[in-house]
Amino acid sequence: MDKIPPAVSNLEVKYTKLFINNEFVDAKDGSTFPTEDPATGENICQVSEAKAADVDAAVAAARKAFQPGSEWRKMAPKKRGVLLNKLADLLLRDQHYLASLESLDGGRLYSACFAVDIPSCADVLRYFAGWADKDHGSTMPMEDGYFAYTRHEPIGVCAGIIPWNVPLAMFCWKLGPCVSMGNVLVLKPAELTPLTALYMASLIKEAGFPPGVVNVIPGFGKTAGSPLSRHMDVDKIAFTGSTLVGRQIQKDSAETNLKRVTLELGGKSPNIVFADANIDFAVEMAHVAVFFNNGQICCAGTRTYVHEDIYDEFVKRSVVRAKKGIVGSPTSLTTEHGPQINKLQKDKILKYLEGGVKQGCKIECGGGEIKGKGHFVQPTVLTNLTDDMTVSKEEIFGPVQQIYKFKDVSEVLKRANNTKYGLAAAVFTNDINKAMAISNGIEAGTVWVNCYYKFDPCLPFGGYKQSGTGRELGQYALHEYTQVKTVAIKLNAPAL
Ligand code: NAD
Repeated sequence: MDKIPPAVSNLEVKYTKLFINNEFVDAKDGSTFPTEDPATGENICQVSEAKAADVDAAVAAARKAFQPGSEWRKMAPKKRGVLLNKLADLLLRDQHYLASLESLDGGRLYSACFAVDIPSCADVLRYFAGWADKDHGSTMPMEDGYFAYTRHEPIGVCAGIIPWNVPLAMFCWKLGPCVSMGNVLVLKPAELTPLTALYMASLIKEAGFPPGVVNVIPGFGKTAGSPLSRHMDVDKIAFTGSTLVGRQIQKDSAETNLKRVTLELGGKSPNIVFADANIDFAVEMAHVAVFFNNGQICCAGTRTYVHEDIYDEFVKRSVVRAKKGIVGSPTSLTTEHGPQINKLQKDKILKYLEGGVKQGCKIECGGGEIKGKGHFVQPTVLTNLTDDMTVSKEEIFGPVQQIYKFKDVSEVLKRANNTKYGLAAAVFTNDINKAMAISNGIEAGTVWVNCYYKFDPCLPFGGYKQSGTGRELGQYALHEYTQVKTVAIKLNAPAL
């Protein structure tokens, strides 16, 4: 890849208003809220704040765009693919600006966003662009005198509610399959990271999507998210965030119009390293599995299980590795660890560490905050852990690696599955039998063997157990944005 240019300095924020019907508008009551730079704790700008009346306006715009006979409904499916491809082109055209903006607003490493997130987002949009005219129904074998077939129809007005940890990726994961299949979207970005979603909205308009097809309304969970998840004219909601809120969204749907719900929730993913694995590689991958995005990843490999024969050496090398990465400004090209998203999250992580120590775990390195501006936590490695400690069971969502010792396959499998979550897992070994025993036995939606974070637009992603329902990405995602209509026709065929 070409050299990454330095992040844009003195970034101008271009879009701060709600995006409804292809226009940037103020909130109906004029409300705004501040968005903060997590690296400094300083306010970046004020952003319009959607509340129930704005949610109504966005849903009405989306409904209008979805009316039979509208430009969107009449559009040839392949043209939807053209629009998504155009959006991918624009995303890449503005890669430098967007990566800088994501880093400013969310503390995401600029270099990673530039080199990984944005190209992957473009891939996701292009993947779903390709599906726009390829997902179709079938004809069924009926007795003489009948003809029957199925149609895959869009569901209608879809709502997307996304978190703050990888905002651009979440935006594209929701948008791609939704509009590819002919639906319309009202998207609520997280209140902590509204800016790149609003910039994407401007690209939606520039790409040529008709008004109302995609609407972006920043706001808070209770005052914008909840009116969306309880809305009687929203047909489907796709949520990514905490298990707590996911549960509420499921309830909201049940109590209102039974809108379809897909949930991508939390995790506490096991990463199992056998003694025959390449130890250097496994240490590096286990490090990345936890510390990528400062641990703010739902599928982070937070429970590292290491075979007893290599445990001590593995811990030693993991500590050296954790101490090596530069912690600092997320826009610097040499930084490896940026800030946590806000003070609340930083304090939550520190509280988990304090509780862990009280319950008997040992801090091998790190363990505290980095004082000064911004919300930085030292990369931390914990040992002397038991499976019943709070830090072993709950999602810390921070730069905290927990290394456990195990003896054999059946023991580690049982312990790895001893969690309410089931989002992802990994195993490192050169023994195919161990790799298969773990892959088959793990209760998780994704298993990585000798790798971690291997994502691709064609690979479905989603949770077992309380990590969620439904799948994003891949062909499976199309089912989440279509409904099947059966048509059975009695023919009045002339007698032969
Ligand atoms: P969160 O659940 O607090 O917020 C997520 C989104 O939901 C935000 O946009 C928020 O405004 C909205 N929201 C909050 N309360 C709501 C309500 N009552 N009704 C409707 N919407 C509401 O989560 P977070 O703190 O922003 O993100 C961290 C969590 O997200 C972690 O648990 C993490 O594991 C999870 N996550 C999961 C995935 C995944 O793909 N499975 C990806 C990223 C993050």
